[in-house]
Amino acid sequence: MRILLVEDDLILGDGIKAGLEQDGYVVEWAQDGVSAERFANAMPFDAVVLDIGLPKQDGITTLMHMRKNNINTPVLLLTARDTVQDRITGLDSGADDYLIKPFDLDELCARLRALMRRHSGRASPEIRYRDIILNPASHTIVQNGKIVDITAREFFILQALLENSGRVLSRGQLEESLYSRDENPDSNTVEVHIHKLRKKLGKDIINTVRGVGYIVKKEERSRLDVS
Ligand code: CA
Repeated sequence: MRILLVEDDLILGDGIKAGLEQDGYVVEWAQDGVSAERFANAMPFDAVVLDIGLPKQDGITTLMHMRKNNINTPVLLLTARDTVQDRITGLDSGADDYLIKPFDLDELCARLRALMRRHSGRASPEIRYRDIILNPASHTIVQNGKIVDITAREFFILQALLENSGRVLSRGQLEESLYSRDENPDSNTVEVHIHKLRKKLGKDIINTVRGVGYIVKKEERSRLDVS
């Protein structure tokens, strides 16, 4: 899961980045509106944390440009306490939620999970597939009632495949959600994670589409959430 963090306050930005990374997210950090827009146009993100007061180009303008460019990524605005009008303009300009500074890092993470959940069309916080329950908040996978020992990257691969069940995801798409620009994963890293996932969960959950990527087939009768 890849997050674009846009914050010009170095101490705050550093804290948010560290907190998100601790939760297993890949974070790209832009410190002004112009580079934020460049990032957003260059690669896909699962969510954007966007400060309103920014150098070069303010957050609202950045947001409006993103929406104009058909970037539908969920956006969480960070706003100062006394700027009601900013928040209204922000929501009307396509933001999905906002947090007032100062805020609690745990709340930021919870709101991001909620945004990404709604964006993927899920009402329930858990993803259920056959005998598997994946919980994005606790980062746990339970199969047949037992907790599966899983790494952060294996978790995100499985989450991406389950959220896109019925669609093939390429190795490149999976890699993008796992690694930041600075990291250079070995060319077979995704295969290694998939291999381990199959060993842990059984061979028939993740299917290989030769030369294209990986897919989790849609369930016949979808149990994806009406809870
Ligand atoms: Ca600021």
